[in-house]
Amino acid sequence: MNKEQIESLKEKLLRTRQTLVQEVDNIQKHSNDEFESEVPDVNDDATRTYTRQVMLSRGEADRHQLKLIDAAIAAIEAGDYGTCVDCELDIPYERLLSVPYVERCVECMGKWEQEQKEA
Ligand SMILES: [Zn+2]
Repeated sequence: MNKEQIESLKEKLLRTRQTLVQEVDNIQKHSNDEFESEVPDVNDDATRTYTRQVMLSRGEADRHQLKLIDAAIAAIEAGDYGTCVDCELDIPYERLLSVPYVERCVECMGKWEQEQKEA
């Protein structure tokens, strides 16, 4: 990867990060007021609990994604961005272009997902 490619990926990371931070913020606000207060036309507790759980798990996924993005930005700063955490080979630019915070090459990702399923 050349400097320009890394720069554009970094910009992409920063933009995605911004969006995620806002979303996490929103979810936090929602789970603090809207769900705690009485909503007159929602009498179904199960529906409310379900909606809340969906929001919270989305928030969790967002926070996880944020961590990966922060790690990727830190790696760019440190100059070792774009290598697979498992086999340490370079991750192809095309792959980073679609998911700039990806941690593994295609091969290691496949193995890793298999391990997650077996665990
Ligand atoms: Zn790998």
